[in-house]
Amino acid sequence: MKVSKRAQNIPPSATIAVTARAKELKAQGVDVVSFGAGEPDFDTPDYIKDAAIEALKAGQTKYTAAAGIVELRNVIAEKLKRENNLEYSPDQIIVNIGGKHSVYEVMQAVLDAGDEVILPTPYWVTYPETVKLADALPVIVQTDRANSYKMTPDQLKGAITEKTAMLVLNSPSNPGGFTYTPEELEDIARVLEGTKIVVLSDEIYEKLIYGDTKFVSFASLSKNAYNRTLTLNGFSKTFSMTGWRLGYTAGPLDVIKAMARLQSHMTSNAVTFGQYAAIAALKGPVDEVVERMRVEFERRGEYMAERLNRLKGVQCPEPTGAFYCFPDVSSHYGRNINGAIIKGSVDFAKALLEQANVALVPGLPFGCDNNVRLSFACSLEQITKGLDRLEKWLGQ
Ligand code: PMP
Repeated sequence: MKVSKRAQNIPPSATIAVTARAKELKAQGVDVVSFGAGEPDFDTPDYIKDAAIEALKAGQTKYTAAAGIVELRNVIAEKLKRENNLEYSPDQIIVNIGGKHSVYEVMQAVLDAGDEVILPTPYWVTYPETVKLADALPVIVQTDRANSYKMTPDQLKGAITEKTAMLVLNSPSNPGGFTYTPEELEDIARVLEGTKIVVLSDEIYEKLIYGDTKFVSFASLSKNAYNRTLTLNGFSKTFSMTGWRLGYTAGPLDVIKAMARLQSHMTSNAVTFGQYAAIAALKGPVDEVVERMRVEFERRGEYMAERLNRLKGVQCPEPTGAFYCFPDVSSHYGRNINGAIIKGSVDFAKALLEQANVALVPGLPFGCDNNVRLSFACSLEQITKGLDRLEKWLGQ
């Protein structure tokens, strides 16, 4: 049957592709260590599950307003005020079907054909694809390992043209594992002053920060930053709710209303009883739930980075946020490992999976072919086993 050019041109999500191959091998009985996961390895807390069950039993099984129930938007507004120092009315908030849907809808609501969108590398794979689906153009800004892959104000200045409509910021970063400091974000905000550039600030990993890292919402930096920013967040990472498909966007009323109009034709509301569970999630013992997970991730991240940096020819900035290490492995490119010629990150990931049964994600689809992404959303035991294998494989 006919397939549109739009659909033909879109590659499958690279992160999902690796996880799928790892699952295939596992199904064949192969003992695979998977560093591919983009989700916490913890279960959704019981109090959130219970709230969903109660809502179901109470008959919360019908359509809601496309933008979500006002009770949930109120609770999100309170959260943004309390934790992020952001004033949004419930009308300025839309509940989406996961943060990924938020990204897609933002692009559809803001961008016109030919608009340019600045994406610093490494970027989350979904950004360039959703930019292109809106007929806009990704403008890639290459960052440096020396600055932990964070974009500098000068790099940003160099990328801005008359056509620049948006900058996407993702801190803490998937896949980079870095977090912009408040000062770095202020420098970026200053470059944008006097322009009409919209900032999409993807803050989905805000709670997963390590060491003395501080998180600050971009929109909270100044009135100027607030007026140009769409703040994106969700429940997947903070509450281990990836399968629930719940995300949200907050920002200027005109854009949020446009998103609601689009959503009313695309998907309608997020799952109704899930929205009630989301209220419970935000009203519950958030600090306790998050801290347990955060401390565990911190321990694993430190261990993983330390071991990676001990490997010959591997360099990895210490992760300060999210649950990823993003080492540069390019000094191994050009090698022949057991008959596999390693030309770049895709060959590296493929050969490692097939020969040593360790799954990780190549950096190429994130805009950094020198790197690979390893998720530490798996047990310390798995991390040790996987790194032992990687060490042995690279040492051949
Ligand atoms: N933003 C980033 C940077 C992510 O890594 C993810 C999940 N991989 C999302 C948004 C979206 O998550 P979800 O759709 O599960 O809310």
